[in-house]
Amino acid sequence: MTQHADVVVIGGGQAGLAAGYHLRRNKLDFVILDAQSAPGGAWRHTWDSLHLFSPAAFSSLPGRLMPAQAGQEYPDATHVVDYLADYEQRYDLPVQRPVRVSAVRPDGGWLRVEADAGVWTAGAVVSATGTWWRPFLPAVPGREVFAGRQLHTTGYRRPADFAGQRVVVVGGGNSGAQIAADLTASDGVDLTWVTQRPPRYLADDIDGRALFDAATARRRALDEGAADTGGVASLGDIVAVPPVRSARDAGLLKAQPMFERLTSGGVVWADGTSARADVVIWCTGFRPALSHLAPLGLRGTRGHIATEGTRAVGEPRLHLLGYGDWTGPASATLIGVGRPAREAAAEIAALLS
Ligand SMILES: Cc1cc2nc3c(=O)[nH]c(=O)nc-3n(C[C@H](O)[C@H](O)[C@H](O)COP(=O)(O)OP(=O)(O)OC[C@H]3O[C@@H](n4cnc5c(N)ncnc54)[C@H](O)[C@@H]3O)c2cc1C
Repeated sequence: MTQHADVVVIGGGQAGLAAGYHLRRNKLDFVILDAQSAPGGAWRHTWDSLHLFSPAAFSSLPGRLMPAQAGQEYPDATHVVDYLADYEQRYDLPVQRPVRVSAVRPDGGWLRVEADAGVWTAGAVVSATGTWWRPFLPAVPGREVFAGRQLHTTGYRRPADFAGQRVVVVGGGNSGAQIAADLTASDGVDLTWVTQRPPRYLADDIDGRALFDAATARRRALDEGAADTGGVASLGDIVAVPPVRSARDAGLLKAQPMFERLTSGGVVWADGTSARADVVIWCTGFRPALSHLAPLGLRGTRGHIATEGTRAVGEPRLHLLGYGDWTGPASATLIGVGRPAREAAAEIAALLS
């Protein structure tokens, strides 16, 4: 049987919940469909030692401040999961799970949302499916001949899993630096860290708060037709969170340039030097998880969809939330997703009125 809602939100991580909060405030009838079996989105799957790069008070969704975590200035991922679980209960958000959406397509005046648990029609859809589910691996020669183990950031949990192994970590962003630092904490991991350009650390006293401010200032400048401030990228690539800072200051985080290719037994640089490896961990980023939107035929460059604010240019009934700066400044962060969620809900309310 086909069900109907004013709005279907796809994804019940932080972005989907922020959307729900504002849809409720606009008195819209909505449902949130989430593929996970429990609350927390991607935060349920990160590595054990991951901590937020901002204090709790600067990591909150609309309406409810994240409480501090005892003894931790920067809360860990379990604290975020607890906060998100509490958030959806407190606001009685109608999340259905596990429900995986496979397709969204036009259906007369509605959008039709097809999922493993049924079909919904809706006046509007908010896609909030995140990026964690679409790891990106670069096309480096030899990837298919490497005889060791390869995994992406999404598969990494803890250094003990690699005891006694030669591990190459690829990537000069936050994930690469944090996982490399994590591995230095374990005895017996022989670590090689490679980055495409020399690591660019943000100043030690800068954390996620400054990233949010930089992303917001950039959006404002671009909206006003002023020069591009460069946003977050102008500050650096790596937030020097305490474990990264300690490993770096102890001289344990020495980055090498990117290698040229993999062989069956390791990696080789352009000058012919090589390193043996048992494991390669690709900390090489993510793409937006948008395959369910393919039937709408909206895909643009780098897997993005052209948007004005959060609204898809080619389909005004569709909003995209939480994927990155292209769906709102710092919208892929806890503190940053509230504002675009509010704007999306207001636009949807106006559209459906
Ligand atoms: C390593 C790492 C560290 C980070 N650190 C911080 C930090 O310190 N502070 C901060 O603010 N941000 C941080 N972020 C960024 C961001 O806050 C998280 O990535 C966050 O999980 C994004 O939330 P989301 O709701 O957009 O996506 P997700 O948390 O991925 O939630 C999306 C939900 O949609 C579901 N879904 C996906 N596809 C479908 C489908 N087809 N049908 C139904 N459901 C679907 C998923 O199962 C998931 O439950 C970090 C990100 C990473 C990767």
